[in-house]
Amino acid sequence: MTNGIVKSKTTNIIDEARIAKMKTTRSEELTSLSEAVIPGGVNSPVRAFKAVGGGPRFIERGSGPYMFDVDGNRYLDFCSSWGPLIFGHADPDIVKAITEQVQRGSTFGAVTEYEFNLAEFIVSHIDAVDKVRFVSSGTEAVMSAVRLARGYTGRDVVVKFDGCYHGHSDYLLVKAGSGLATFSQPSSAGISKGAAGETIVLPLDDDAALEKCFAEQGEKIAAVIIEGIPANNGLLIQRPEFVKLIRNLTEKHGALMILDEVITGFRIGMEGAAGMYGVTPDLLTYGKIVGGGLPVGAFGGRAEIMDKLSPNGPVYQAGTLSGNPLAMVAGLATLNKLADGKVYQRLEQNGALFVDALTAKLGDAVFKIARVGSIFWVVFQDEMPLSAAGIESAGIDRYNKRFRSALDSGYYLPPSGFEVCFISAAHTEEQLLTAAEVLGGIMGGSN
Ligand SMILES: *Cc1c(COP(=O)(O)O)cnc(C)c1O
Repeated sequence: MTNGIVKSKTTNIIDEARIAKMKTTRSEELTSLSEAVIPGGVNSPVRAFKAVGGGPRFIERGSGPYMFDVDGNRYLDFCSSWGPLIFGHADPDIVKAITEQVQRGSTFGAVTEYEFNLAEFIVSHIDAVDKVRFVSSGTEAVMSAVRLARGYTGRDVVVKFDGCYHGHSDYLLVKAGSGLATFSQPSSAGISKGAAGETIVLPLDDDAALEKCFAEQGEKIAAVIIEGIPANNGLLIQRPEFVKLIRNLTEKHGALMILDEVITGFRIGMEGAAGMYGVTPDLLTYGKIVGGGLPVGAFGGRAEIMDKLSPNGPVYQAGTLSGNPLAMVAGLATLNKLADGKVYQRLEQNGALFVDALTAKLGDAVFKIARVGSIFWVVFQDEMPLSAAGIESAGIDRYNKRFRSALDSGYYLPPSGFEVCFISAAHTEEQLLTAAEVLGGIMGGSN
């Protein structure tokens, strides 16, 4: 048997015999071959499984909630390509939209009605967005929004929060310097001190640090950027008051608030975190779900700000494949299926069902589960962290150690304890309850 799904309701311990049967020879072969021609064998570092040890599995195809690897193993997928796949793999409606479009051509480098259709959908569903522009990744969306904020305000400094990820543009790939509200340090080689030096990194969930920062340098700040719900370094669900404080302080000091909804946009509801918190940011960034599984990003906001973009205004921004027709139709097919809100209701119910079952199974084990709708994160510590500093490395280690048992039992979790899990609309209640049973057994295990 090559699929890894355990049907037994009584599985407490991992079925060692069956795990031993999971064949990985082709994945191992492809790992060595790829390492020779692609740095680390991967095109995005976390795919190399370094945090969890052992090699990655090469995926051949996906269907609904499942992925299948090149050795024929089947996994129930909780990684969902890191968020885009809210309908699971190869959803028939999305496949149809892409297939029909690709036969008409895949890119024109000219204006199309598809861009208008997706833009109109977004503008009509999101209060804070009057105008939107499409790019090809979340990184690019954020990079462009930050440039626009600088161009609009005529200021240089950007404030971000420790534990938020906004893609890998130079001035956002930074970490806190020594002491609060000081300028930051590059968190990667190859980033100039100049680029990093224009970003201030503050702790999440810290009203005083934010207030102090604005009191001291409010007139230099172009923008404060925060993830809708920080979900790239654990799931750090912020107090609404903190998010509202960002809104108030930016407004008071003539800075812009950028809400990075690349992961939360269309994931936790039609209006994302902006809707959840009831705040109106100046600029919002999107990616992941908005492209229906194709490479896409988008940024939007008030017309008066967006019209500073070239060709209307002085802020340059462009892209050969921006607004790509395939991505536009895939995005629109996805959003159309979400528009009536029923999918969000079901994802909320299934998210609660799964987390309750997992909590029951874990019993007395030391852990916390953060969840917003269909995003969840299991952390092995007593206190629910609200900031990056609150995450205990021992808890992350514990997750990382258990990852491979889950994988070998047919559950594809994100290969790092800092990453969150996603439930898709393709996951059934039965699959989720079985998963809670098996994963609870693995996670609750000793050591
Ligand atoms: C994924 C993500 C990004 C980066 O998007 P890419 O498409 O990977 O470039 C930026 N911000 C947030 C909040 C994200 O989750």
